[in-house]
Amino acid sequence: MSDHNWCHGPECHTQQTQSRIRGSGDNKVLRTIKIKQGRYNGYQNGIWDYFCGNHCLFDFIRLHLTSIIAIAPRREALETPIKVVKEKYESQRYRYTDNGYQPQSYQATRTTIKSVDNA
Ligand SMILES: [Zn+2]
Repeated sequence: MSDHNWCHGPECHTQQTQSRIRGSGDNKVLRTIKIKQGRYNGYQNGIWDYFCGNHCLFDFIRLHLTSIIAIAPRREALETPIKVVKEKYESQRYRYTDNGYQPQSYQATRTTIKSVDNA
């Protein structure tokens, strides 16, 4: 098995960078970037084993979006059960007065979203 992939960006081989130049004399080309597998130890599910960078990743997604979505289409919204807790608490804000900015107390509301244990 090969230890490298060619970048899957559809336009990778057209970007004018010195790292893509191959060949000699008058037979030079811009070549797709060769990527060593595992270069980031599986970071982000190994996506960077297939793309040299964000530019190529997004070119690929734009070109193949319809096919990618067809793999796992979402036809209805998903929901996560939660509890919403609202609590009032004493807070302070600064108001401009004749004595410059002064702290003033006020009643604030804190909204907290809590997970619901479904087990
Ligand atoms: Zn690329």
